[in-house]
Amino acid sequence: MNADDVKTFAREAGFDLCGIAPAKAFPELRFLDDWLERGYAGEMRYLARNARRRSDVREVVPSALSVISLGTLYNTDRPYSTEVNDPDAALISRYAWGEDYHDVVGRRTEALLERMRAATGEPFSARCYVDTGPVQERVYAQHAGLGWIGKNTCLINPEQGSWFFLAEIITSLPLEPDAPQLDQCGTCTLCLEACPTGAFPEPRVLDATRCLSYLTIEIRGAIPEDRRPDVGTRVYGCDICQEVCPYNAAPLRSDDPAWQPAPELDQPRLSALWRQSDESLESLLGRSAMSRARLKGLRRNVAVALGNSSTVASAAALAEPVSAATPARGDPIVAEHVGWARRRLAAQSSAPAAETGDDG
Ligand code: SF4
Ligand code: SF4
Repeated sequence: MNADDVKTFAREAGFDLCGIAPAKAFPELRFLDDWLERGYAGEMRYLARNARRRSDVREVVPSALSVISLGTLYNTDRPYSTEVNDPDAALISRYAWGEDYHDVVGRRTEALLERMRAATGEPFSARCYVDTGPVQERVYAQHAGLGWIGKNTCLINPEQGSWFFLAEIITSLPLEPDAPQLDQCGTCTLCLEACPTGAFPEPRVLDATRCLSYLTIEIRGAIPEDRRPDVGTRVYGCDICQEVCPYNAAPLRSDDPAWQPAPELDQPRLSALWRQSDESLESLLGRSAMSRARLKGLRRNVAVALGNSSTVASAAALAEPVSAATPARGDPIVAEHVGWARRRLAAQSSAPAAETGDDG
């Protein structure tokens, strides 16, 4: 089995991109230490805990010779968040609209590995990862020729943009590597300028503590008060720095059923989301990649978004008391954000509130 066989198997397993990088300690892998030292990881302490393992894939698979880098396009035919002008629409990051990619891409990656084992006939070492492993997957993806790491820190493919899930198989197989992809950002700075929170202290360096994805997904406690207005109506993640990228201006779309938006995640009404029972929200989280936010995190985010939305429907939803079906609304962190949101709406009430005609 050679590299071309692997790429054929990958295509047949449903992957849109596949390339091979040598299992080396590339110089870019060392940037992580400096980034951690500058405090840009915030509360994501697990990144520091396994920084050594992240410095070289051979820390994970000592006999590794190759990294098979895999990309799965998840973009669907729905407007970008920057095109949505509806104050009662809950904005959810594009990657979370369909099924949980950890499960779907994980199954496909394991299936690809099984196919490789069947084709080889010889034993070899291998481990599969989808996003959550101790692997700096974008660095290996760049060296595998899948794309380059743009100034927005995302992996960008020159023909297909950046709406990809990445996965990799680290293996002891000696596969012919691909040429690394070259940087094609040029003089463009659109992503750096579009970030609403100024989260890029310099190109390709993300201060996660300022990023809306970090604030709405990673932190477990309170969202810093001075950052809450920037959240807008984003209840899970942010896509702005990808949406403005010229390489995503006419993106390919996936017709894979796994990534088509679940109706309840496709711009749901904020007020309707807030009114769902805790049980129903838990079930929603369990079916999507949003589970990382957890129930109380999602309630917290929706409260902030309601406060930012300035609609009559939001004020009505926020005025409702905690009920037997919604105990998470009474969580101290959630309740503090509800209080903030109510005060924000009250402060804005002298200005005409936007009518949505929908109270959820
Ligand atoms: S995801 Fe949003 S907040 Fe985070 S860096 Fe990109 S534009 Fe800024
Ligand atoms: S918006 Fe421009 S600078 Fe940013 S990643 Fe895309 S091409 Fe690079």
